[in-house]
Amino acid sequence: MFALDFKNVHTHFFMAFGMKQTRVFQVNPEEPQTEAIGEAAAIIKAGGLVAFPTETVYGLGADALNADAVRALFAAKNRPLDNPPIVHVADVSGVYKLAQEVTPKAELLMKQFWPGPLTLVFKRYPDVPMVTTAGLETIALRMPNHKVAFALIKESGVPVAAPSANLAGAPSPTTAQHVFDDLNGRIDAILDGGPTCIGVESTVLDVSVDPPMLLRPGGTSLEALNKVVGEVQLHPFITSLAELPAEKARSPGMKHKHYAPKTPLVLVEGPSVVVMSKIKELISLCWFEDKQVGVLATDETAWAYEADVVKSMGSHRNVDAIAANLFRLLREFDAENVDLILSESISIEGLGLAVMNRLRKASGYKIIRPAVVQG
Ligand code: AMP
Ligand code: MG
Repeated sequence: MFALDFKNVHTHFFMAFGMKQTRVFQVNPEEPQTEAIGEAAAIIKAGGLVAFPTETVYGLGADALNADAVRALFAAKNRPLDNPPIVHVADVSGVYKLAQEVTPKAELLMKQFWPGPLTLVFKRYPDVPMVTTAGLETIALRMPNHKVAFALIKESGVPVAAPSANLAGAPSPTTAQHVFDDLNGRIDAILDGGPTCIGVESTVLDVSVDPPMLLRPGGTSLEALNKVVGEVQLHPFITSLAELPAEKARSPGMKHKHYAPKTPLVLVEGPSVVVMSKIKELISLCWFEDKQVGVLATDETAWAYEADVVKSMGSHRNVDAIAANLFRLLREFDAENVDLILSESISIEGLGLAVMNRLRKASGYKIIRPAVVQG
């Protein structure tokens, strides 16, 4: 008699369609189980792909020194090959194996902010695989502040290249479910350590130039950087209110579409009262055209809108909470089937700079700034 082996049927099904069987390991974020970490690290060492939580968003890890593994990482995410991942290390000694010309300023920044949401761009050593740095002369390095990430990198014994664990262009994942929704069947494993706490990606700071240059605002605020190293140059892409030509990009990621929900998003910027009245006007227009409309509001303003869906990012008084909620809400809107999302803006203080950068990108720079009537 012939007995069906379901496990094998399953495996063959995945293999026939060029898919992987993605295993999900539940891990305690405070005390990650050695067994799960051991299995995940074995996958990394063998050239596989493992998604894991960090304090910012979930990352998709591969051995940074294994060119084939990093190529597979790009393929799993559909990420353009010219946009290099951040390489994660578990201790500062890892930096000196990958980066040259580590200045006293860079050392001060590492001492002050690592482990934490700050990525530093250094001149790289020539033996780092080309694909890991997209052929650039520099390498982006970070030490994450999360016990699961730390244990995985340490146990793997290699630097771990880890971009955000989403399909390229989509909002970054802040839960293991988001990773699963985007990458199930494309990666080997997910370490599920619960929701991430910061919710926006790390700040990217180029320390191969002086003064250092901010390439991406993120989980470490500009104000905090200024306190430690004084002047920081802002790359024009950060302050720009419109899309700049791609050749001006200093960080390859700047020129790619990012963080966008599938639903079109329009960002309305300006003082709260003006923004609210503009959004109300736009809701009426949408309804007139029989379109379903959602509003991304704040705790202070959400009550004022009548729309098909209203979601609050959080209170203006707690920008950190807004950052933590942002990507989840963008994904939730896609499930609501609205035709358009109208988003409010927030102040650019603290993590607000990162939130506004992500919202501008999510809108594809479809930004409305209603005129403020003086008087
Ligand atoms: P992600 O890993 O998805 O959070 O994105 C990493 C970000 O770091 C992207 O915006 C990259 O363009 C940027 N990045 C990585 N390596 C470098 C580098 N060597 N120089 C400048 N930016 C970099
Ligand atoms: Mg990303």
